[in-house]
Amino acid sequence: MSELDATGVDVRFGATRALDSVDLHVDAGRILALVGPSGSGKSTFLRAVAGFVTPDAGTLRVGDRVLVGDGIMVPPERRGLGMVFQHHAVWPHMSVAENVAYPLRRARWNRTDREARVAEVLETVELGDLADRAPDTLSGGQRQRVALARALVARPAVLLLDEALSALDEPLRASLRLMLRRLAAEYELTMVHVTHDRDEALAIGDQVAVLNRGRLVQVGSPAELDSSPNSEFVARFLHDAT
Ligand code: ADP
Ligand code: MG
Repeated sequence: MSELDATGVDVRFGATRALDSVDLHVDAGRILALVGPSGSGKSTFLRAVAGFVTPDAGTLRVGDRVLVGDGIMVPPERRGLGMVFQHHAVWPHMSVAENVAYPLRRARWNRTDREARVAEVLETVELGDLADRAPDTLSGGQRQRVALARALVARPAVLLLDEALSALDEPLRASLRLMLRRLAAEYELTMVHVTHDRDEALAIGDQVAVLNRGRLVQVGSPAELDSSPNSEFVARFLHDAT
C-alpha cells in the first residue's frame, strides 16, 4: 500500500504539450479515475508513471520512493507497478496460468512459490477454475481478468489501468468495476483508472480528475464534480449527451 504523488509533471512531444504542470495525488488504497477527451494526455500520464515516457519536468513518487526527479529516473521494470491496457496482451500460446506466471518467471521466482502465488491471484480474480484453459477459449471479460491477474501477480504498489474496461459491454464493465473496488479495499491497492467515459469515471473513482489538453481542470469526489463543476468544460464534459 503506497500513495502516488505527481508534482509539476510536464511532457512535450515537439510542439505538443501533452502534459502541462500536472499535480495529482492518490491516497494508498484509493482509486483515482483520470478522465478527459481523446488526446487530453491521459495515456501520457500513465506512461510517465510507468516509465515509458520521460517527463521534461516534475517529480513522481510512490510511497517514500522517488521514481522521477532529483536526477533520478527509475527504469520501468524496477518501478513495481502493474499495468492493464484496453486490448489485453494475453499470449495465445500459453495457458491462463502460464500467462499469469510469466512476470514471476522473469523475476526468477522458483516453481513452488510461483505456482502458489499464481493459484492465489487466479482465485482473487475468480479464474481459479480456468487455470489450464487456452486464452482463445475464454470470453473477452475473462481474458481481461487474465491480464489483470498478470498485472497483480508480482504485488505491485500501484495498478495503472488504461481504458482497461473500454472494450467490454456494460454488464461486464460493472462487474469488473466491483472487482477493482474490492481489490483496492482488500489489498489497499492504489489505482489510477484512465477512461474517456465520464459514467465509468464517476462510477469507479474515489476521486475523479478531469484533464483537458494536458491540463488538470478539476479534481474532486464524483459527487463534487457532479454537483459543482468548476468550469464550462467540466460541466459539458460530464453532463452533455455523448
Ligand atoms: P489520451 O490518452 O488522453 O487520448 P494521449 O496521452 O495519448 O491522450 O495524447 C496526448 C497528446 O500527446 C496528443 O496530442 C497526442 O497526439 C500526443 N502524443 C502522445 N504520444 C505521443 C508520441 N509518442 N509522440 C508524439 N505525440 C504524442
Ligand atoms: Mg489514451
